[in-house]
Amino acid sequence: MDVPCVRVPREEGEATRSRLADADLIDDGYEITVEDGSLYIPVTDSEAVPDDLEVVRRSADERETQTTPADLLGFDPSYERLGKAVLLDEDDGDRAREIADAVLESDLPVETVLNKASKVKGETRVRDWELLTGADTEVVHREYGCEFALDVAEVYFSPRLATERHRVAQQVESGERAFDMFAGVGPFVVPFAKRGAECVGVDINPDAIAYLRENARRNGVEDRVTAICADVRTLVSTRADADEDTTQVRDTKGPDYENWADRIVMNLPHSADEFLETAVAIAGDDCVVHYYDIQHEDDPFGPGERAIRAVAEPEYDVSVETRRTVRSYAPHELNVCLDVRLERSSA
Ligand code: SAM
Repeated sequence: MDVPCVRVPREEGEATRSRLADADLIDDGYEITVEDGSLYIPVTDSEAVPDDLEVVRRSADERETQTTPADLLGFDPSYERLGKAVLLDEDDGDRAREIADAVLESDLPVETVLNKASKVKGETRVRDWELLTGADTEVVHREYGCEFALDVAEVYFSPRLATERHRVAQQVESGERAFDMFAGVGPFVVPFAKRGAECVGVDINPDAIAYLRENARRNGVEDRVTAICADVRTLVSTRADADEDTTQVRDTKGPDYENWADRIVMNLPHSADEFLETAVAIAGDDCVVHYYDIQHEDDPFGPGERAIRAVAEPEYDVSVETRRTVRSYAPHELNVCLDVRLERSSA
C-alpha cells in the first residue's frame, strides 16, 4: 500500500527517526524500509513534517504485530496521544469505557485513558477530566526533542499545537530575548531556550509555573529560563497606567521587562487583544510578536492586525510578516497566528 514516507540517506536514518518520533509523526502501522542507500520512514501527517525533510509516497508493508484499538473495536475511534495517556472526547460514557478497554488491550504504549469532562474554563484554561484507567492525570510528553511533565487536570496543554510551536521555535536565534506572556508548562519557552534564547515565561497558574520550572530543568535549560507566576499585566507599566496615573499600580509594577523583548508570544487566543498594551510595553526596539487569535473565517486576520496597530502605532512601525491559519477551531471559526514585527519608529 502507498503511504507517505520521509526519505533520508541511511546514515541520517536514526537521527531522523528519533526527530520524527519526538514529534509523534511516525506511522507505527507500517514498516520502515531500506532501499538503495535510503531509509523510508512512514509518517502519519505529511503536512506536519518539517520542511527540511523530503516526503515521498511509496509502498510499505503493514506491521502485522500491532493490534490497534480500531482492530478490537471494529470502528476507528478518535483520540489524542499525550505521553502514555490517551485523551478522549466522548459524550457517551459507555462508548468512552469501551474505547478505553480497547486502548489498554491494544499494543499502544498507554497507561492512562482520560475523557474530557468539561470545556476549558476560566483564565487558566484548564478542563475537568474523567479518569477511565490509570493512576492519575500526570503525564510526560515529548515534542520535537523536548520533554514536558504536566498534569492535564491542573494546567492547559494541547498536543495539537506541536507543529505550530515548532514553526515559531525555528525562528529563534541564540542570544535573543524571548518573553512568553502566557507560558503554561513551557512548550514555547523550553524549545526557545534550547536554541540559546534568554527566556521569560509568565503564567497566572501556579501549577503551570511549577511545571515550567521542572521542565526547564528536565531539558537542561534552567539557566536561561525565568519563570514568573503573575498576571502578566502586573509586571510592567503601560501607557494606559500613565493616563490613569494610578499610584497603586505604579507601586507594584517595575521596569525590569519594559522595552526588553526581541520576541513575544501571546497564546491566549480569546482575549489576547486585552494584553496588547502590556505587550507593547515589554517590546524592545525591534520585536516580533506571535499573536494568536480566534476569529470568523470571513476575516480571520483583520481584527488582530487592527488591534495591534491601534495600540502599537505610532510608537512602532508595524509590519505583518506572516498570516497563518493554525487550525479550525469551531464551525466557521479559525485559530490563527499573526507574526508581527514592531520597529520603534524614529519619528
Ligand atoms: N502557551 C501555553 C501553551 O501553548 O500550552 C499555554 C497557553 S494557554 C491557552 C493560556 C495560558 O495563559 C494559561 O496557562 C493561563 O493560565 C495563562 N493566563 C491566563 N491569563 C493570564 C494572565 N493574565 N497573565 C498570565 N497568564 C495568564
